[in-house]
Amino acid sequence: MTLDRRDFLKWMAATGGAAAVAGCAGTDAGPGAAKVVVIGGGFGGATAAKYVKLWAPDIDVTLVERNSEFVSCPISNLVLAGNTALSNITMGYDALRQRGVRIVRDDAVSVDPAARQVRLAGGSTLAYDRLILSPGVDFIYDQIPGLQGADAQSRVLHAWKAGAQTAALRKQLEAMRDGGVYVLHIPTAPYRCPPGPYERVCQVADYLKRAKPKSKIIVLDSNPDITSKAGLFRAAWKSMYPGLIDYRPNSELADVDVKGMTVKLTFDSVKGDVLNVVPPHRAGDIAHKTGLITANQRWCGVDWLTMESVAVKGVHVLADATLSAPAMPKSASMANQHAKVCAAAVIALLKGQPVNQQPMMMNTCYSFVDGRNVMHVASVHAYDPAQKTMAVVKGSGGLSTQASELEGTYAWGWARNMWAEALG
Ligand SMILES: Cc1cc2nc3c(=O)[nH]c(=O)nc-3n(C[C@H](O)[C@H](O)[C@H](O)COP(=O)(O)OP(=O)(O)OC[C@H]3O[C@@H](n4cnc5c(N)ncnc54)[C@H](O)[C@@H]3O)c2cc1C
Repeated sequence: MTLDRRDFLKWMAATGGAAAVAGCAGTDAGPGAAKVVVIGGGFGGATAAKYVKLWAPDIDVTLVERNSEFVSCPISNLVLAGNTALSNITMGYDALRQRGVRIVRDDAVSVDPAARQVRLAGGSTLAYDRLILSPGVDFIYDQIPGLQGADAQSRVLHAWKAGAQTAALRKQLEAMRDGGVYVLHIPTAPYRCPPGPYERVCQVADYLKRAKPKSKIIVLDSNPDITSKAGLFRAAWKSMYPGLIDYRPNSELADVDVKGMTVKLTFDSVKGDVLNVVPPHRAGDIAHKTGLITANQRWCGVDWLTMESVAVKGVHVLADATLSAPAMPKSASMANQHAKVCAAAVIALLKGQPVNQQPMMMNTCYSFVDGRNVMHVASVHAYDPAQKTMAVVKGSGGLSTQASELEGTYAWGWARNMWAEALG
């Protein structure tokens, strides 16, 4: 069957095909178009910006991001071991630009929810009909007196935002003597990526076993036990890195003595050659300035049907910055799912259409135990109208029985897919 011009135009009008074609070509939404501004071009924000534009090309979408490039936290632990390079996890925003998303490289310094405007460090303002915030986390240094200054923070790294600190921590590990001690301090949950610190232990162990076999790892965990895949991590440490890892739970941080290279705990002090302290987190600063924090001075409560803030109308919050629903991790997988629920809801709200009342979200977190072998944990979360939150679907999800190379290929596939979802 051939399609004549009239049929083609009918099809375009019925399916939104015309708009989709315009969107692919990066055509401007035009004057009078509804405006969505997104702050933060990480996993949550970039994915939300992409999907609003993809599903509603007639909406004007602007993404504000302070960095020129995106560096992925997932896979970044592998850089520490030399199992991959930082360049393999660094990407640009060109593909999003080509999709018609306007990329503004700037810092969003304040939001005026009454005037529906975002002010940028560069001096300009952006007007919005709906604002989406996915600023990730910032660190709480207030209770770590020894880590107050920029100099101290440049010597005792977190490497919990991938990029310059990841490269710097790799350099510190390379410079460490054989027989040296690497000390990792893990904050009390919730923090971003529950299995992330334990994957980091595996990666550093993989490197030290190969390059500096007389060295040791001391893991000081504020939590009472490994917070994710505990049995699997314990088994991997025992079989792959015997005698290398000293895991100490309930190790609450009191301070850090940078000069003396010592982590001070409530009842103990631990000296090291490389200190890697991950401070407690809270939602990114712009969420605080906007009045979005509703829990423990740290996190933003949201309506899970729309991801709209429960504190400020017209502002939606995604991913790590949210007050997580029960058993919901702060992860890139979740950021992706928050972003899609939010994009669909924002479009519906702007067009006066009904919002989906039954959102579902899925999470898979892969952890590399060396350069190739990987294990996963997965869960499915559905909206519970009675509790007005996302609840884990009974019997859903799962856990690897052990790490394997096959899951290593899945993990790289997952990462490439998440990057394409956000930036492709
Ligand atoms: C070591 C490590 C390993 C991890 N591994 C995994 C994994 O294997 N699987 C997984 O699912 N998750 C993993 N995660 C977690 C994952 O990286 C986060 O959950 C995810 O990045 C959250 O997305 P987000 O959008 O909230 O924040 P981000 O991805 O951090 O994005 C926030 C963005 O906002 C920008 N920004 C903030 N404020 C402003 C402002 N005022 N103006 C302009 N721009 C601003 C920032 O520059 C940043 O680009 C890992 C995390 C770490 C640290």
